[in-house]
Amino acid sequence: MNMLFRGRLVLPDSILPNGTVEVIRGRIQAVRRGGTRAADIDAGDGYIVPGFVDIHVHGGAGADYMDGTPEAVRTANRAHAARGTTTVFPTTTTGSPEQVSRMLAACKAVKRTWKPARDGARIAGVHLYGPYFAADKVGCHAVEGRRDPTPEEFNQYFETGLVRIATCAAELPGAEAFYRAARARRCLITCGHSSATWSDMARAFTAGMRHVDHFWCAMSSVASLRALHGTPMQASMEQFVLAHEAMSTEVIADGQHLAPELLNFAYRMKGAHRLCLVTDANRALGMPPGRYRFGPREDGSWFESNGLVGFVPGTTSQPASLASSVVALETMVRNMAAATSAPLHEVVRMASLTPAERAGIARDVGSLESGKRADLVLLDKDLRVRRVFLAGCEVPAT
Ligand SMILES: [Zn+2]
Ligand SMILES: [Zn+2]
Repeated sequence: MNMLFRGRLVLPDSILPNGTVEVIRGRIQAVRRGGTRAADIDAGDGYIVPGFVDIHVHGGAGADYMDGTPEAVRTANRAHAARGTTTVFPTTTTGSPEQVSRMLAACKAVKRTWKPARDGARIAGVHLYGPYFAADKVGCHAVEGRRDPTPEEFNQYFETGLVRIATCAAELPGAEAFYRAARARRCLITCGHSSATWSDMARAFTAGMRHVDHFWCAMSSVASLRALHGTPMQASMEQFVLAHEAMSTEVIADGQHLAPELLNFAYRMKGAHRLCLVTDANRALGMPPGRYRFGPREDGSWFESNGLVGFVPGTTSQPASLASSVVALETMVRNMAAATSAPLHEVVRMASLTPAERAGIARDVGSLESGKRADLVLLDKDLRVRRVFLAGCEVPAT
């Protein structure tokens, strides 16, 4: 019931070289400097960091949340927990209303009966991501499963009480009504898979939109808007996010989607309080290279994994394109530490407290502070995950 952790503690604003974390009944009771009491768990020359929080994740270990069964949900959650992610927001893809509803029901069932050592990362809510994407920006999602938002459909999802993050392309008919319904539910509202112009974004901002999914991926740029709308060239989602302090965003720092200079640029422009690390991981995480379905197992679109990233091979008429990541947040943390000028506590913040704040769960998780859940990760000095504790219970290694 009562455990003492000792080591270099990564706190939200600093690193405490010799600190202790006292855990009682799954919660952090106290975080202290020094002391002589013998520790139950010692991080040695490594670090103790808060469990990672992933606000954009599709699956892992062969399972996609859109498979829509409690077992698939648990399989993905266990895969992420073993790699240091203690809180997830399972993320929908495009799909039929039945497939989205089935996913929500499966997540609800797992959340209701959740046990830390058995079920893996805790579900804090669902990220309603697909199906409200722009037709020209679906990326690797099945285009048949995308549509414009209607209250008849999205109100059903919001009524589950499970949706905490809500994405819609700002330019779609019905987007504003969607954002207002999401705001009434106090969701983090995000624009993604979109060709929005600056004026689309400004309208969305008024309706409550404050975040953009995977920066530079499946979003508008000055060049893409010029191709759509001609001249004068228009400002895009990119400029809107960089120009507004209230806007946050996220990067897929797997080393495959974005070059190191873009990761550093995003960090320098937005800062650790407005930039989240996400995996956007698909079911190929933790699986051998091969061919997999993105989204529902019965009719999701096919992609390939080479063990480093998901991709759709090119054809004579279409160049190859990326299809989300196959690695966990611990890899993103190491890549950000290597690519950016951010101190380690800020890198860790981008994978824990910042996403927790943006998703409205920072009172409960995201940092080593008394009163929060004892979601702790031991990293070695090279930032590799060694041991993971969820509400004070050790997660079995996979
Ligand atoms: Zn996406
Ligand atoms: Zn995604």
